[in-house]
Amino acid sequence: MCFLTSDICQGRQDESRSISENSTWGIRRRFEQGKLHINHTKFLGYDKDKDGNLIINEQQSKIVKRIYKEFLDGKGANRIARELESDGVLNWHGKAKWYEGSIRKMLTNEKYKGDALLQKTYTVDFLNKKRSDNNGQVPQYYVEDSHPAIIDKEMWEAVQLEMERRRNFALEYDIQKFEYATTCNPFAGRVICGSCGQIFGRKVWNSTDERLRRIIWRCNGKYPAKGKKGCESRHIDDGLLYQAFINVLNLIVENKDYFIKKWMESLHSENALNRYKAKQFIAILREAREIDKFDVDLYFALVEKITINNDGLIILGLLDGTTIECEPNK
Ligand SMILES: [Zn+2]
Repeated sequence: MCFLTSDICQGRQDESRSISENSTWGIRRRFEQGKLHINHTKFLGYDKDKDGNLIINEQQSKIVKRIYKEFLDGKGANRIARELESDGVLNWHGKAKWYEGSIRKMLTNEKYKGDALLQKTYTVDFLNKKRSDNNGQVPQYYVEDSHPAIIDKEMWEAVQLEMERRRNFALEYDIQKFEYATTCNPFAGRVICGSCGQIFGRKVWNSTDERLRRIIWRCNGKYPAKGKKGCESRHIDDGLLYQAFINVLNLIVENKDYFIKKWMESLHSENALNRYKAKQFIAILREAREIDKFDVDLYFALVEKITINNDGLIILGLLDGTTIECEPNK
C-alpha cells in the first residue's frame, strides 16, 4: 500500500517535471525561431495583440519617455517618482503611486529599446513553478529589435552611462546615496574640497536672532577622529554657491558662440552620453537668457560638481567635463 502511494507520487512528480521542461524548451524553440512571447503583465508602455506580439500603448509610452528624458535632465529616480505622483500620473495598477526602485528598473529595461532578453529568470522548482534570477544556470537569449521600441537606442545607452556615472561619482567621493541632491538642497553630495578631495557637508549655524542664522558648507575632513590632522580648508556660505551657478550660467550665455562651437564637436563623440549631453547643452544654450535667480532645473541639467579651493575660488564642473572658475562675491 505504502509502496504504491509513493510510486504514484513519483509518477506525478516526473510528469510535472516533464511538462515544465517541455514548456521551457518550447519557449526556447519559439525564441530561436523568432516567435517570441514576452511576459509583460506588469509592463508599462506595451500591450499584446491577439497573437501575443508586443504593441506600443501610446498613452503609457509617454510616461516611459518622460522618465527617460527627466533622468537625463539630471533628475534622480526618487524625484521622478514624487513628481509623477504629484502630477497624478497612473501606474500599471491604475494608481498614482510610484517607487524609486521601479523607476530604476524601467530605466534599465532593454525592452524599451525594442530588444528582449529571454530567460532573465528560470524555473527552479518544477512543482510549485518557483522562478529565480538566471545567473548563468540556463542559457539566455538576446534578440535585437524583437518588437517596436519606445526609447531609441542612443537615448537608452545614454541613460545606462549616466547611471554608471552617478554610481561612480558616489563611490569616488564616498557618498552613501546614489542621488543625494534635491531641489531644496541642490548642493548635497556635490561640493568637493579642493584641498583634500572629500565632500563638503551642509551645516546650519543657529542663532536666537533669526537674522544671524546661517547655512554654511564645510569639508567633512575638517574634524576627523582624535589624533588625526584635520583638513585646513575654510567653510563657504550657502549663498555663494547659488551665486556661483548664476555667474557661471551668465558667463556661458555671454559666450554662447564659443560654447556652442565647443559642444558641437562633442556631437561626434564615441560615447553616447557625451553625444546626448552635447545635444542637450546646445539646445539649452540656444534658449537660455541671463538669469538673476538660481534655476534648479538648469543647474541639475548642467552641473556635475562644485570644487572649493582654499583661496576661495569656486570651480564649477559641468557634466560634459568643462570646468569654469568663478570668483565669489561678484
Ligand atoms: Zn578637505
